[in-house]
Amino acid sequence: MKIFKFGGASVKDAESVKNVSMVLKSQGFDKCLLVISAMGKTTNELEKVVELYFKKEDYQTEIEKIKQKHIEIAKGLFQNSHVVFDEINLFFDDIVSFLRRNKSPNYNFVYDQVVSCGEMISTKIVSEYLNDIEFTNQWLDARDYIKTDDSYRDGVVNWQKTEEFISTLNSICYVTQGFIGSDDNNFTVTLGREGSDYSAAIFAYCLNADAMTIWKDVPGVMTGDPRKFKDVSLLSNISYEEAIEMAYYGASIIHPKTLQPLQQKNIPFYVKSFVDPTKDGTKVGASDKNQHEESYILKENQTLLKISTRDFSFIAEDHMSLVFGYLSKYKIKVSLMQNSAISLALCLEDKFLKIDELNEELQKVFKTDVVKNVSLFTVRNAKMENIGKFYQEKSVLLEQIAKNTLQMVTQ
Ligand code: ASP
Ligand code: MG
Repeated sequence: MKIFKFGGASVKDAESVKNVSMVLKSQGFDKCLLVISAMGKTTNELEKVVELYFKKEDYQTEIEKIKQKHIEIAKGLFQNSHVVFDEINLFFDDIVSFLRRNKSPNYNFVYDQVVSCGEMISTKIVSEYLNDIEFTNQWLDARDYIKTDDSYRDGVVNWQKTEEFISTLNSICYVTQGFIGSDDNNFTVTLGREGSDYSAAIFAYCLNADAMTIWKDVPGVMTGDPRKFKDVSLLSNISYEEAIEMAYYGASIIHPKTLQPLQQKNIPFYVKSFVDPTKDGTKVGASDKNQHEESYILKENQTLLKISTRDFSFIAEDHMSLVFGYLSKYKIKVSLMQNSAISLALCLEDKFLKIDELNEELQKVFKTDVVKNVSLFTVRNAKMENIGKFYQEKSVLLEQIAKNTLQMVTQ
């Protein structure tokens, strides 16, 4: 079994969906499972619906816009009389009626029930289209297979149940959603933004797949995001460890949770271009040709938090334990930390916008300083003899060098 993941950019319009079938043709469409994201920027648009809903503003117009976008895409793929148009209409009616009836004040819960619809509708469209052109496939509701706890927007996979359900699938072709699973009450739970790669890896792991490929609008994993850095080149072979580190430091090409399941079962993983599907792209896996090229990763929207004791005493274990307790409570992730005798500096990723609440709690005990909107710049496999150039034209608030990795928090 092969696992293919197609992200939002690869299904952003009718032409792109047609291109998916070209990719499949080039690879052979048998015994494969396709994991597909929401079309284009649909996830962001649905996030806006949830925001408007909670602000008690007009969310219906926004839903209508998203619906029209999908109808337009479908018009480019199907005859006017196709059942898919009824499905699209029903689908968006369901979102409206869910929101109208909803009583839950839990933002993250409502978010997951609404935002997941992007994947539900995109997979319906792609599955129907592929069936029409005789790429016969079965549409699956990923929520019947990927089981999680009820951490809405950040679902934790229940591997035992998930493996049990996924292993019932037999070797034909399937089309399913990325990004979503469900909890014990069958409510939808999302796996975190850009989580479709992770979904694909979950299926790959549970099916003991022969290989997994994610299809991107770039040639593969590069030494830096070509939209942010000049003079980057393609990495044709990297190890799981290198890829895990790159994802951990914020290389957005691969979702950080994706690699471990693949590495555990030694499943070869490819990142390839959907524009040029016959090109090799990047192979991630065990190989003796692994590259260790200098690579650059920029993680934006970070927060720098500096903590010191009020009486200038040393930052000790009990202080640390208190701070980390709060971080875990507010689900704030640490991207970088550095401690000295009297202060602790943390570069944080505050996905749920809880930094002010955290700061308030910390201020009861510590002196704190918060700088929002900083970036974390990481150079992997840095050539130490010429790192000077990375400091030019930057206001560096914190830096750290460990092994061959240079990291700096900049404003
Ligand atoms: N559609 C979701 C997102 O944009 C999941 C994904 O694309 O991986 O975050
Ligand atoms: Mg996406």
